[in-house]
Formats: sequence, C-alpha cells, structure tokens
Amino acid sequence: MKKPHKILVIANWKMNLNVSQASFLVSKREKNVKVQKNVEVVLAPSLQDLQPVSLQIDRRKFRLAAQNAYFKDEGAYTGEVSFTMLRELAHYVIIGHSERRIYFKESFEEIRDKVSAAVRNGITPILCVGETKTERRGGETGQVLHDQIGTALSDLTAEEASNVVIAYEPIWAISTFEGDIAKPDEIEQEVKFIRNQVAGIFGEKTGQEVRVIYGGSVDDHSAGAYMGIKGCEGVLVGGASLNYHRFSKIVESAYALSKEKDGKEKR
Ligand code: PEP
Repeated sequence: MKKPHKILVIANWKMNLNVSQASFLVSKREKNVKVQKNVEVVLAPSLQDLQPVSLQIDRRKFRLAAQNAYFKDEGAYTGEVSFTMLRELAHYVIIGHSERRIYFKESFEEIRDKVSAAVRNGITPILCVGETKTERRGGETGQVLHDQIGTALSDLTAEEASNVVIAYEPIWAISTFEGDIAKPDEIEQEVKFIRNQVAGIFGEKTGQEVRVIYGGSVDDHSAGAYMGIKGCEGVLVGGASLNYHRFSKIVESAYALSKEKDGKEKR
C-alpha cells in the first residue's frame, strides 16, 4: 500500500490583502499553526505579497503557493512572471483555476504548458479541474474531467504526474460562482473518477500516488467531512481562508483527522 501523504490545507487568498494586511494575517496565523508532521498548510497570497510573506513565515509551518505564472521561462513578455522566477519563493503553483479559465480564457493547451513549466522548474502544480452546473446536469462531468486532466498532464511522465496535486473544484460549488454545497458522497465519486483517469493514462501506481484534494465553499463546518472522504487528501479553501478564526478551525480539523488516522494505523 502507498505511504499516506500529509493532509493538505491550502489557503487561496485570490486578489485580496495588500502587503500589510497579508503580513498581519500571517502573524496571527503563525500562533495557531503547529509544526505537524502529517498536515501541510499552504498559503497562496497574491504575487506581490509572495516575497514579503516568504520572509515572514516559519517554513516548518507553512509552504507557499503562487496563484499563477507564465509558461515561458524568460523573454519579452511584458507584465508576466515566470515559473523560473518563482522557483525560490513558491513550493506550489495553482494552475487552471476556474476563475482563470473563465475570466482570462485560459485554454486547455495553455494550462498544459503551465503544468509542464512548473514541473520543469521544480514547482509542484496544483491543477484545478471541475465542471459547470450545466455540464453536471447534462451528465458531462466525466467527459469534462477526462478532457481537462488528459490535456493538462499530457506532456508529463508517470513519475512527474504522480507528484501533481489535482484539486477537484466543481465550478457550481465555488463561493464566488454558484456556491452550492457539494455532498461528500458526490465528491467521493469524482475523486475516484479522477484517480481512475490518471491510472488509465499513467498506470495504477500513479493513479494511487497522485494527490487529489477538494475545493468549493469549504468552511470550518464542512472541512472535516471533505478531508475524511476516501481518496481525498486535503482541501483548497478560498473565501474562508481570509477569515482568521474559520481558517484556524479548518486547520484544527486537519490535525484532528491526522490524529485519528495515526491512531488507526497504530492499532
Ligand atoms: C477557490 O478559490 O479555489 C475556492 C474553492 O473558493 P471558495 O472556497 O471560496 O469556494
């Protein structure tokens, strides 16, 4: 059996918080986050906050994620920041978030090139995938996930693919879109589907090793249930991650779950 991964709790701050606001939130958060071997807390601040936050955090407690980058390593691309430039700052990068797919018209191919650029530069991609409400109602969820995953990972080897984090984020469940609350059993089904997709492309081992997490209106009340879903190894949190108390409780739920898992393993 594969070694269990740490439970991932990722805070996507989106385009919120200036440098001093981000710094204030980090200083409060530092007090509640422990150095914990089974839980990994990842902060994804805006690009301009990334550097100051990287100087402030205790790296045993937090890892950093960028919210985006450009797929070329360098050159005449005014206004862009490359994965090469983020190498020393970010451990992860969010790629293919629905807000980028919808508002910035990022294509499947662009997302594939970003995934490759991240891997080439030693940054772990957090690949977001998920269907719209219309697609779900039309029974197209499987096809959408198949196309998004198949294209995004198409330039990777099996070993590279096994290091990717796939965040299942149905668009209808994201708080800034419809914000419907997904039932854990609906998520369990899609998490399984995602692992099968990856296994179909890269083999059973990669399907088991790839990390799959959930995102969509996760808050302090629902986080434990989502993290407890079979095959789901963490949560990507948007809105609730900006609220100090709610996010602290989400991290607490991850600690409780990891303790419970630890207990079961020892028995
Ligand atoms: C997100 O931004 O990825 C997200 C899941 O947002 P929210 O938790 O606010 O739905």
